[in-house]
Amino acid sequence: MDLAERQVDSFRAAYRRDSIGPQYRGLVHLCFTFGLGCVVIGVSILSLEHVRPLEWLAVPLTFLYANLAEYFGHRGPMHHPRRGLQIVYERHAGQHHRFFTDRHMALESTRDLKAVLFPAVMISFFLVAFALPVGLLLAWLATPNVAWLFVMTAMAYFLNYEALHLVYHLPQDSVAGRLVLVRRLRRLHQVHHDPRLMARYNFNITYPIGDLLFGTLWRPVAAGTGGSVRIAR
Ligand SMILES: [Zn+2]
Ligand SMILES: [Zn+2]
Repeated sequence: MDLAERQVDSFRAAYRRDSIGPQYRGLVHLCFTFGLGCVVIGVSILSLEHVRPLEWLAVPLTFLYANLAEYFGHRGPMHHPRRGLQIVYERHAGQHHRFFTDRHMALESTRDLKAVLFPAVMISFFLVAFALPVGLLLAWLATPNVAWLFVMTAMAYFLNYEALHLVYHLPQDSVAGRLVLVRRLRRLHQVHHDPRLMARYNFNITYPIGDLLFGTLWRPVAAGTGGSVRIAR
């Protein structure tokens, strides 16, 4: 076992001891995230009324907005300490990136979900502090349909984010992890987990639109070469 492996091992042991309480149940956490998300999406769909063609534009626009929010949130406060957002930096750079490195990507039990999923309290906070006011603002500025399409798409995007990120951190031979698209996206995230590269490349966790737009995408040369090549900057 080399030094890097020993560091991950000892960090994992300390994190499991100090940060995962005896009451924590990973599957409950997972069900809360996807259950709440599905309820919000369901309520949004049921609230739509006679959507006009132009109103559907809210779906791709919200998707793009969410992708850029993911990109800048990850490139900014998750990798650089900002006043008032230190908790975000500590959780991501200080914990997630020490628990998982490019050579140790997989969790080892459902309790390790704590190191992957957003905390339930943070999801509830984002819903109340961001989704609600933006939805109300859109209902006022545009139409209620646009507001509901925004909430629906933003929540679907978030669930997609959580699902993909979870699969990246499952053992490599998991059923979902073997899908071609997921394998490619996982490889991008694995490169991001290289401690030498994490603060500079592959900030999108889902689809690398922001990385392509802002020149921060790395891509493997070819499977099995063990190397990566920068394709844009
Ligand atoms: Zn990760
Ligand atoms: Zn990161």
